[in-house]
Amino acid sequence: MELLAIHGGTPVRTNKIYYGRQCIEDDDVRAVAETLVGPYITCGPKVRELELKLAHFTGAKYAVVVSNGTAALHCACIAAGIGPGDEVITTPLTFAASANCALYCGAKPVFADVDPETYNIDPQSIRTRITERTKAIVAVDFTGQSVKNDEIRKICDDYGLVFIEDAAHAIGTTYKGKEVGSLADMTCFSFHPVKTITSGEGGAITTNDPDLYNKLVLAHTHGITHEEQEMEETEIEGPWYYEQISLGYNYRLTDFQAALLISQLNKLERFKQRRKEIVETYNEAFKDLDGIILQKEIAESDTCRHLYIIQLDLDKLTCTRREFFDAMSAENVQCQIHYIPVYWFPHYKRLGYTKGLCPIAENIYNGIMSIPLYPLLSDSDVEDVIHAVKKIATYYSKK
Ligand SMILES: *Cc1c(COP(=O)(O)O)cnc(C)c1O
Repeated sequence: MELLAIHGGTPVRTNKIYYGRQCIEDDDVRAVAETLVGPYITCGPKVRELELKLAHFTGAKYAVVVSNGTAALHCACIAAGIGPGDEVITTPLTFAASANCALYCGAKPVFADVDPETYNIDPQSIRTRITERTKAIVAVDFTGQSVKNDEIRKICDDYGLVFIEDAAHAIGTTYKGKEVGSLADMTCFSFHPVKTITSGEGGAITTNDPDLYNKLVLAHTHGITHEEQEMEETEIEGPWYYEQISLGYNYRLTDFQAALLISQLNKLERFKQRRKEIVETYNEAFKDLDGIILQKEIAESDTCRHLYIIQLDLDKLTCTRREFFDAMSAENVQCQIHYIPVYWFPHYKRLGYTKGLCPIAENIYNGIMSIPLYPLLSDSDVEDVIHAVKKIATYYSKK
């Protein structure tokens, strides 16, 4: 048996790798530089071009580009008309923004449990959480795998709910051959640097509904319109005239960020293929490894995977998750945990949420760990990660 680095052995590699990292190439840099010296720095022609490109790519009728994924979720909740007294059902196994967007609107996030094998929100559990106050579902494509779109659509139709898909992890994923972004009432994307394609900070919402689209446009730019047919005053004073017709925010993206994202979008297919290749290599390497459980995928999802998660089967290992995590770190493979159940946070505790609401999600949280996954990983990096996981799992195996 190999001596673990944490016990003084030689680490599997000398320099540290992290769980995720952006891929910015020379043409990305050129695209930003060209836009920076042009006439528009903030919202201009590159933002428009990006919106058309995103709509075309996802197959949605409309796309609105915003300053980040959280703003995208906030705008979607505003467009859905969510307000005080409403409830919004989401998963606890997500970044806090998926639930915070309901709080921003004065509504109450309600947590449904997840499927023990895919880790995605469980439609059966959603049904048990519905009340007469339920207004929307924020379904997260966790790790990039599509949620069960058909089942969630059916629930939304049965109860008259708005289906918001949080696809922060899932650009490039298809469900039954259809691109994520074309399926839900509104789909939200994030272009944060750890996500599959990036504009530094950035986000977008896609929709097929012209009414939701108009509301999204207003929500992300102060509720101000320049369109005469939308104005309420009959006297238009002059060409400078515009109206604020609702309460909106400044959630605009800049043109140089849009230029970066247009350039990144052109690489998405390449990034997806490389991510898939690494996922397959990991799956193959770990499939018979004692103490490690792999995330399962539904056949309907052709996944552009954002995160690769291993779940420790702690009954079969002599270590804790913390010891495994620290051992990986000592091997110079820096993992991360996605995610702490949202309602465990002090802010949610103060709002009255308690542990135990979603036992399956909590149990998954206790064993999971995200290992490195991004297109820039070389084959030898991937081998190092596999080596580290096998070395540690073997060392701590009860067998
Ligand atoms: C990253 C992320 C967000 C928020 O996106 P930002 O661009 O960081 O604001 C929302 N939901 C999920 C699931 C995310 O992973």
